[in-house]
Amino acid sequence: MKPLDWIDEELRRLQLGDLLRDVPQPLRTQGARVEQGGQKLINFASNDYLGLAADVRLTQAAVAACQQHGVGRGASPLVCGRSEIHVQLEARLAQFLQTEAAILFPTSFAANAGAIPAIVDREDAIYGDAKNHASIIDGCRLSRAEKHIYPHTDADALEDLLRRSKSYRRRLIVTDTLFSMDGDLAPLPRLAQLAEKYDAMLMLDETHAIGVFGSQGRGVAEHFGVEQRADLRVGTFGKALGAAGGFVCGSASLIKWLANRARTYVFSTAHPAAVSAAALVALDIVAADPSRRLALLAQAKTLRDRLDQLGWDTGQSVSQIIPLHVGTPRKAVQISQSLRHRGIWLPAIRPPAVPESESLLRLGLTAMHSGEMLDSLCEALQEINDQSPNDQ
Ligand SMILES: *Cc1c(COP(=O)(O)O)cnc(C)c1O
Repeated sequence: MKPLDWIDEELRRLQLGDLLRDVPQPLRTQGARVEQGGQKLINFASNDYLGLAADVRLTQAAVAACQQHGVGRGASPLVCGRSEIHVQLEARLAQFLQTEAAILFPTSFAANAGAIPAIVDREDAIYGDAKNHASIIDGCRLSRAEKHIYPHTDADALEDLLRRSKSYRRRLIVTDTLFSMDGDLAPLPRLAQLAEKYDAMLMLDETHAIGVFGSQGRGVAEHFGVEQRADLRVGTFGKALGAAGGFVCGSASLIKWLANRARTYVFSTAHPAAVSAAALVALDIVAADPSRRLALLAQAKTLRDRLDQLGWDTGQSVSQIIPLHVGTPRKAVQISQSLRHRGIWLPAIRPPAVPESESLLRLGLTAMHSGEMLDSLCEALQEINDQSPNDQ
């Protein structure tokens, strides 16, 4: 026996439970049509919702920034890692989201993992949705605050928890706004009301919604008109905005506090200026052009209706994230594979991303998907349905 032999055992166990993931073959660029390992595929696996990841305007901005500022930043932003472009992006972001200030993190995983422990500690309590993203969960764990989990989007259950729990020094309500697997929305008006009534801080993770929801593309808080009632708003440049990196927006004091206390900010190297340069261009595109997000959400609605008619269960989705609930990991993997044989890439989502019985196929619709591509998808899903009619 060697010290790492247990890993092969565990990998076999994952394989037997249809839970083993192979890291996919690489892609050249993002896009609705991709070529992977020699196979041409229609890609429904990406979060590049607005089709900006391979946009030439972002690429050019990144290249120019590299030429001016070099690649690496050499240190964390708190030491000497910040460039003029990082400063510009923070200011632009605060202006875009109408907050006093903003702070950049290497990723939005790091934003959640750093910001939550910076604002709550052992003497405090966190109230979180049962389907919050892994990075929020890890931030909660790192904080050592007492955790209260309410059933998915259930504001009444949250109110019960708030009403009944003992008194704490501080309380934090934290939620995804657009849920990454189900494509449904958190009940933000109720959450804002509860945060005010029970004197809790409200933290919203807009990662999947920035650039897509809200008339100006500012997210679900904008959509519901509750932006000024949230204390922290988290987002990423890595999804709809086509670049990389995370951020938190809020009051000037909050941002100053995070710069002092968020460990993923203080102890992690600043991302390249090229990344901030691309993100700046993406924000300008989102601010100037609502057409992509409007077309995307309209097309998502049409597609959800079609899938429902074909007998697929798209759950509570109201967005560009469309789950096909199929039950078991095995079924999810089988359907994903038969779609792949038909030239369609729709990933199977299994534990630990979702509970075992809630395995699903996750469809990320983007502004680049044509009507023809959606026809191909629906035809393929219909064929799969026909082959196993009582089995969905
Ligand atoms: C993807 C995701 C993150 C992480 O964002 P990155 O910038 O890719 O690290 C955080 N929160 C939610 C809800 C997400 O879906």
